[in-house]
Amino acid sequence: MKHCSQCGSPVELIIPEGDNRERHVCANCGTIHYQNPRIVVGCIAQWQERIILCRRAIEPRYGYWTLPAGFLENSESTEQGAARESLEEACIDVQIGDLFTIISVPHIDQVHLMYRAELRKPEYGVGDESLEVDLFAEDDIPWQQMAFPTVVLTLEHYFEDRRKGHFGVHSEVLIPGQHRPARGS
Ligand code: ZN
Repeated sequence: MKHCSQCGSPVELIIPEGDNRERHVCANCGTIHYQNPRIVVGCIAQWQERIILCRRAIEPRYGYWTLPAGFLENSESTEQGAARESLEEACIDVQIGDLFTIISVPHIDQVHLMYRAELRKPEYGVGDESLEVDLFAEDDIPWQQMAFPTVVLTLEHYFEDRRKGHFGVHSEVLIPGQHRPARGS
């Protein structure tokens, strides 16, 4: 950040009084521009034994497969965001169920929340941000062509829990180069 979004003056990186880390502070109007992690919401949308995956038509990870997910917008709940992203990317109407994974990704300042969900009807399509959308059985998941480690982690938990016959809530921290749960449940 170079300029204040309130008044357009240059900002400086300083530790404000009473704070303990550097912030962008406007030298003119004094506004402190806090920056906090962004929230990504999505779902594992299920129809019978199969789940929806989307092949990305956008960067990053163009051409790789992912779960329907994206950044939470202002003024919406996490469930609403997951349902909206599902509609936008896979043209699916979902009933959002329980929270399934909450994954901190501190090196990119994100938190990912993935829900379990049911398709209300077995209909899907290819949204603007997708090249391809389909329902996959566990044996057909393209593991080597997945876009993001958070998605792989979520799907590993999903199929593991499904085999056990019980779905938990999994809280994880994703560290680069260390694709193993830091804390599982
Ligand atoms: Zn300002």
